[in-house]
Amino acid sequence: MTRVFSGVKPTGHLTLGNYLGAMRRWAAVDQYRSDALFCVVDLHALTVDHDPARVRRLSRQGASLLLAAGLDPEVCTVFVQSHVDEHARLSYVLECVATDGEMRRMIQYKEKAARERERGGSVRLSLLTYPVLMAADILAYGTDEVPVGDDQTQHVELARDLAVRFNQRYGHTFVVPRATSPAVAARVMNLQEPASKMGKSDDVGPGIVYLLDEPDVVRKKIVRAVTDSGRDVVYDRAERPGLANLLEILAACTGGDPEELAGEYDSYGALKKDTAEAVVEVLRPVQERHKELCADPGYVDGVLLEGAGRARAMARPTVDAAYRAIGL
Ligand code: ADP
Repeated sequence: MTRVFSGVKPTGHLTLGNYLGAMRRWAAVDQYRSDALFCVVDLHALTVDHDPARVRRLSRQGASLLLAAGLDPEVCTVFVQSHVDEHARLSYVLECVATDGEMRRMIQYKEKAARERERGGSVRLSLLTYPVLMAADILAYGTDEVPVGDDQTQHVELARDLAVRFNQRYGHTFVVPRATSPAVAARVMNLQEPASKMGKSDDVGPGIVYLLDEPDVVRKKIVRAVTDSGRDVVYDRAERPGLANLLEILAACTGGDPEELAGEYDSYGALKKDTAEAVVEVLRPVQERHKELCADPGYVDGVLLEGAGRARAMARPTVDAAYRAIGL
């Protein structure tokens, strides 16, 4: 039996990166593993400057998009993190086994804190402790596998370290999880800045394809994607990152191989056109289903209510055991 857990943050509109790097696999494969759980991790959206009404709206939209992407609440558990108290309960206990040094070494913390300081803002303490809460999300459910994009593997490593450390100090309590990432499109890059990942929390930009972008908007963004100075179509992530990104997106959408696809094109224009159409086709059913779900808000409410109940029942025994083990 393999327990799977993963989630999305409602810090912005979900992107093609979220979909190709994570959600698509959750729907196609991961939800059919035993007792899989998928979560909108709304507590994590409070780690940076946020607007309460926007977070609430995006959480709701995130949940609808998880369902629209194909998660079936008859098969897996779909819920919102803040509806289940066990996440925050366990996070505090894990803060008592984590160190400030390991938190400060996290790449995402360093990047996001630097960005925040550049803007003249202050860094919330929760941004530093965010990976501990994420470890709690994972460990509360006895998770074996965490299907994520590349950017999250360091955080899953931390969850592993904390599980091992806790088990050694206080007795076996947690399953030690591992991250899994897709072979292609594990890190979809920004179409305008191929050195940075396509991240939803970044400012709205022409380099980000959102799951709810209209087909013509998708086409425009992909046609305007920056490519590199060369002319030939080759797959080379280091030297030709813009082109490699398009080839990976096309490969992920069509089930092909980026290197082989490179051999089929002799112009950037044709590659961009086919990539745009492939993305439009991949997004079409998700957008259609999302529209249906928006027309039936009671259904989504019911799914989330039931999901939270199931998740709570799964998490409570492990979190209670952690409290007992640590001396509470
Ligand atoms: P973000 O806020 O960066 O969009 P989340 O933390 O909500 O991301 O991520 C949800 C899932 O989507 C995670 O598994 C993450 O690894 C994955 N993901 C996010 N961005 C990308 C990307 N550009 N390429 C591939 N996977 C991604």
